[in-house]
Amino acid sequence: MTELWERTIESLRNRLSAENFDTWLAPVRIDAIEDDTVVLRIPNRFYADWISNHYQDLLLEAFSASVDPSPTRLRFEVDETLQVNLKPRQVPRRKPTKPKRSPDSERMSRGPTLIRVSDLNPKYSFTNFVVGPSNQLAHAASVAVGSAPGKRYNPLFIYGGVGLGKTHLMNAMGHRILQDDPTATILYLSAERFTNEFIWALQNHRIDEFRRRYRENCDVLLMDDIQFLAGRDQTQEEFFHTFNALYHSDKQIVVTSDVYPQQIAEMEERLISRFQSGMVADIQPPEVDTRVAILKKKAEAEQIRLTDDVAHFIAQVIKSNVRELEGTLLRLAVKAELLGRPIDLELAKESLRSILPAPEQALSVEDIQRAVCTYFNLKLSDLKSRRRHRAVSYPRQVAMYLCRQRLGTSYPELGERFGGKDHTTVISAVRKIGGLLEQDDEQTVGAVEAIARQLGFTA
Ligand code: ADP
Ligand code: MG
Repeated sequence: MTELWERTIESLRNRLSAENFDTWLAPVRIDAIEDDTVVLRIPNRFYADWISNHYQDLLLEAFSASVDPSPTRLRFEVDETLQVNLKPRQVPRRKPTKPKRSPDSERMSRGPTLIRVSDLNPKYSFTNFVVGPSNQLAHAASVAVGSAPGKRYNPLFIYGGVGLGKTHLMNAMGHRILQDDPTATILYLSAERFTNEFIWALQNHRIDEFRRRYRENCDVLLMDDIQFLAGRDQTQEEFFHTFNALYHSDKQIVVTSDVYPQQIAEMEERLISRFQSGMVADIQPPEVDTRVAILKKKAEAEQIRLTDDVAHFIAQVIKSNVRELEGTLLRLAVKAELLGRPIDLELAKESLRSILPAPEQALSVEDIQRAVCTYFNLKLSDLKSRRRHRAVSYPRQVAMYLCRQRLGTSYPELGERFGGKDHTTVISAVRKIGGLLEQDDEQTVGAVEAIARQLGFTA
């Protein structure tokens, strides 16, 4: 069992950030597999929420590679003896690996289990979606679709960056539709799963069944992360026909993507124009007030005591992404519980120190040299050469002057960094340019100001 778990999470290592892997998967243990359910032991209750929201599909898919029949559910049991590791890693973070883009035919099925669509996530409803200016349009369109599928806004195309609520809205639509019509057949799945099922069906001669499922026996198709189809021509073709079949029978289609339809790489023009034929709504990163509201809502749902000052503090620090926002709150809650401390500003500051915005990247000698080269249209090697022609020596002097002024680098070191010049050469260069500036020499003032602007400071 332990080995199964280790193998399973290892296969996911590259799909998570090192930090998330260490925090949320490494401390977890497997307990048993009971029928279709994997029972996991977790250090505290916050893990259940986080894992089921973020890694459930990944985990189930990974399990299906080695467990037969494939599990379809996760269950959690709290085991307080498990160690939580919340220290940020010291080792350099692994570069995020690009998702593999193998051609369709290489993506083999992983067993006879692919004809399964993950259920709607019960946690994603309209009730717990916080509406603000950044997501108002997408929310309104989703509500409209949820209350009258196939009538208006068909298809609905929602696009926006990672972790901004696309999947949440999609699930919420599904729930709303089922509320009004519990018999509706809603297919909610990622474009990746659609691709896998399609290939599996092709290879196993079940394509008729596949088509019946998606074209005939489907009332609402919710296709998440359509950008996955980029460059997968055969699957795009299949999806195009699926789309048409549904559309012509007034079935609702909702598609999400991380970019605007036209920006999806390697996507067939005819699909793009289908996407644009209905309603296209974007989701932007939330404003600070919305971020605070999201934090409060999340805290309420998780029964975390979150004071206003802490909520504001987190919302100030984490700006880009709601998933990060929630992750930060949960991590904080995990830590507070572990240490037996309240979630106060002090703890929040302590925990977020490592992700507080880094001080502005310091300017380097090389940055200045490059900017000077760009301005004067020279090569870096010219600047460091021994050439004394004014076309080279003058820019070199300007660069030396700027380095000395902005960085305070010592004369000998500057000599070194400019190809091994004597420090007296540097001193006279700095004096000369300083003198020209004092005289308001037009060329020099113009150059220094332009280069400074280029580098983001005022001369
Ligand atoms: P996406 O699909 O755009 O990458 P998700 O829908 O998975 O993002 O959202 C990431 C997390 O943030 C989810 O847990 C979701 O519930 C939450 N979330 C995003 N936007 C909101 C919002 N406006 N209100 C409440 N929760 C939100
Ligand atoms: Mg999503």
